[in-house]
Amino acid sequence: MKTLLKGGRVVSGHGAIQADVLLDGEKILAVGGGLEGDRVVDCTGKLLFPGFIDAHTHFDLEVANTITADDFATGSRAALRGGTTMVVDFSAPDKGDTLHDGLARWHQKADGKTSCDYGFHMTIDDWNPTISREIGEMMEEGVSSFKMYMTYPAMMIPEDQMYEALLRLKEVGGIAGVHCENHGVINALIAKAKAKGAIGPSSHPRTRPNPLEAEAVSHLLRMAQVADCPVIIVHLSTKEAMEEVRAARKRGQTVYVETCPHYLLLEDSVYDDPDYLNAAKFVCAPPIRKKADQEALWEALRTGEIQTVSTDHCSFTLKQKEMGREDFTKIPGGLPGVETRGLLLYSAGVAEGRITLGDMCRVLSENPAKLYGCWPRKGVIAPGSDADIVVYDPEGETLLTAADQAMNVDYSPYEGYRCAGRIDKVFLRGTLAVNGGQVVLENAGQFIPRGRNQL
Ligand code: MN
Repeated sequence: MKTLLKGGRVVSGHGAIQADVLLDGEKILAVGGGLEGDRVVDCTGKLLFPGFIDAHTHFDLEVANTITADDFATGSRAALRGGTTMVVDFSAPDKGDTLHDGLARWHQKADGKTSCDYGFHMTIDDWNPTISREIGEMMEEGVSSFKMYMTYPAMMIPEDQMYEALLRLKEVGGIAGVHCENHGVINALIAKAKAKGAIGPSSHPRTRPNPLEAEAVSHLLRMAQVADCPVIIVHLSTKEAMEEVRAARKRGQTVYVETCPHYLLLEDSVYDDPDYLNAAKFVCAPPIRKKADQEALWEALRTGEIQTVSTDHCSFTLKQKEMGREDFTKIPGGLPGVETRGLLLYSAGVAEGRITLGDMCRVLSENPAKLYGCWPRKGVIAPGSDADIVVYDPEGETLLTAADQAMNVDYSPYEGYRCAGRIDKVFLRGTLAVNGGQVVLENAGQFIPRGRNQL
């Protein structure tokens, strides 16, 4: 059965054009005019985006002595509801485990209960001959991107090992995303804050100031320069870190940058709320920054210096956020976001004239598909691609509230925010998966094996 999406404007990285889209089974058969289908979906006045890809989620993750509120079932339903048809989650083997142990665990968490398509990055937090060999095997098993941490004792990797890993990734054509924050000085600042009795959430941003992200970015980029390999800076949050990226690019290095909606929309005054939970619910790392950083990030999106916007979705309920009431370092870090990224980027970005439709499509769909090696199967509305399509109504409106969200959390970081536009329908590989705000297709997500970076 062929379905014709008729009368809409098809968005790509180049902008939007008037065109109809014919779906046949799981694939897109044709894009253009004069097409006929067995079933016609009227898309007059709507924008048709390639399904959004969120390349940074943490579902069903044990961390900070608890477990994230969203697992693959709830997280992927929320993703789909917000137009995200594929997520790439972070498989995290425990120290001492093999990469295959980690991959098997993540397949177990996701397989059969995920409603959008998915892939896994692989965390490298240790170095030995087995892991070195496994990196090549991961590439063959569809895991082509890796993650390393410069902070967090449970996951951070020493410099010599990080360097070895970068060399090995270069050899096999893999790529690493790195969490960049200076570990040592942050620890010293935390100790000083605690010694003064400053144990509340307002100490969180103060102990992780902008220069400590920029320092780590510079540190990583100089190591990558010596290893002569490209890297991804995940969740970049500051103006200063962006400047370090520019300096590396000027030297001729290839650097990819990801940022997140919360760094584009929220300000660090959220941590000064005297109500503990109102502040604690925004704790994430890097922390939310200042207006000047937001503006620098929007500017970098406009100029194409930032390639992807992902969410770093890592959700905890308010009850879980209670864990740090007597010590801000015990607040589980992370925000819910997998459901709202498309709406926020359209509303604060396109509708407010900060970025174009083409920019939005590049950072949400096209670039993540290319960077993470699933282009052109994903990330584009073109013949032969998977029929993952978001039918977006730019005339609609969406009120973001905790009461109306599919994410398994009891708060929204954007409570009361009125987004311009509304997700009208979402198709996952040709099947209607969301209709009028309701998820109508569950557990149909598939593992998508990925190849090399094509960006
Ligand atoms: Mn993360």
